[in-house]
Amino acid sequence: MKIVGIFGGTFDPVHRGHLETTRHVYNTLGLDHVRFILSARPPHRAPPVASVNHRAQMLRLAVEHEIGFMEDQREQQRLGPSYMVWTLRSLRAELPQQPLALLLGADAFLGLDTWFCWQQILALTHLIVLPRPGLPLSESTDTWYRDAVSTHVSELERASVGRVYICDTPLIDVSASAIREKIGADEDASGDVPDAVWAYIQQHGLYGCPVHPKHKHAV
Ligand code: ATP
Repeated sequence: MKIVGIFGGTFDPVHRGHLETTRHVYNTLGLDHVRFILSARPPHRAPPVASVNHRAQMLRLAVEHEIGFMEDQREQQRLGPSYMVWTLRSLRAELPQQPLALLLGADAFLGLDTWFCWQQILALTHLIVLPRPGLPLSESTDTWYRDAVSTHVSELERASVGRVYICDTPLIDVSASAIREKIGADEDASGDVPDAVWAYIQQHGLYGCPVHPKHKHAV
């Protein structure tokens, strides 16, 4: 069975690093589809800068016309912290037989063992790891994931949970925090996000972006 990809994030804002790496995984591993899940109330980090509503609108603009990508609003609709283990339990209940794979950037993957009920996460899904610039993934033998690594995607299709696949995605040196800083410093970050997301940031004056004159009357 084809793998369903799950890509969770704060998406504050969604950017090229999220979209291009996920597109690469979708195409090269032949995923069934990828669900982008907005972490409405992320428990493992400082509160987001933009509201849930703004982040959700930007995510929608980024994925709505993309083949194979879809939004999944379950963390917005649920009360309480956006624990990934709860999200995976509800997805697993809907898709009992399908191999699921949680896509994680290297930073998130390397911090996974601090997440709420992290070992249960591996009992609910596979992991697909996306390398990030400056974050080499350890090849040493004492990592918790040593015995879980698969080098062939067919192993993820056969087993339904518990494998770790390190995907050779392009390194994209973009992060949401760098985008917020650029905008705050009045630098151009338009190339880091889809055009529609950039227009939304300008229209709503997010992250200290001056509201573009053509939108002033609409705000
Ligand atoms: P921030 O800079 O605010 O921490 P971020 O750019 O890391 O944000 P998030 O929404 O927190 O974005 O990340 C969601 C997921 O996307 C995480 O698994 C993260 O590791 C991954 N990710 C973010 N940017 C990239 C990138 N450039 N390449 C690969 N994965 C990425």
